[in-house]
Amino acid sequence: AMQGCDVVMHLAALIAIPYSYHSPDTYIDTNVKGTLNVVHAARELGVERMVHTSTSEVYGTARFVPITEEHPLQGQSPYAASKIGADQMAQSFFSSFNTPVATIRPFNTYGPRMQPDDGRVVSNFIVQAMAGRELTVYGTGSQTRSFCYIDDTVEALVRLMATPHEVTGPMNIGNPHEISVRELAERIMRLV
Ligand code: UDP
Repeated sequence: AMQGCDVVMHLAALIAIPYSYHSPDTYIDTNVKGTLNVVHAARELGVERMVHTSTSEVYGTARFVPITEEHPLQGQSPYAASKIGADQMAQSFFSSFNTPVATIRPFNTYGPRMQPDDGRVVSNFIVQAMAGRELTVYGTGSQTRSFCYIDDTVEALVRLMATPHEVTGPMNIGNPHEISVRELAERIMRLV
């Protein structure tokens, strides 16, 4: 599939954390072995640039905020562990073979065409507020996130594609503003 491609964006993965508790081996197959297949093909075919998509989930529960690229990696779920493995595999192809791969770590992305039933907080709250239902704030609502608008995530991916080969990342793509789940609920209720 990559034959004749100048640039490859690798976004394929199994992403559901709960399912990774159930079938961790499929996460190794798809996320680690799948990434190996893609970097291997990138090397063989001599693609000009490859972007590997990681996730903020590799950092686990924040030990400090904002989470920087220097934050320790913590495999808190088989999903997170498989993404850490995938990142290391991508990085090793640059270190070992000079394959021009860069890794990007998006934080919680939201925006148009988000699946309304995927259980994520922004889409859940919007659907609930529009239906006049109560918003399901889990726990105290004091937990915070840095949400990244989809256009910013896309722009980061596109910009990374155009960087020199020496730029390998990993690079966090987020938002300097932290918001609690409770504040988010209040803001969405107000806007709706
Ligand atoms: N959350 C919530 N109500 C919901 C969905 C999520 O309070 O209906 C909370 C959830 O407990 C978490 C935060 O919102 O603290 C973000 O959850 P999400 O699943 O969107 O992203 P992730 O936890 O993967 O960062």
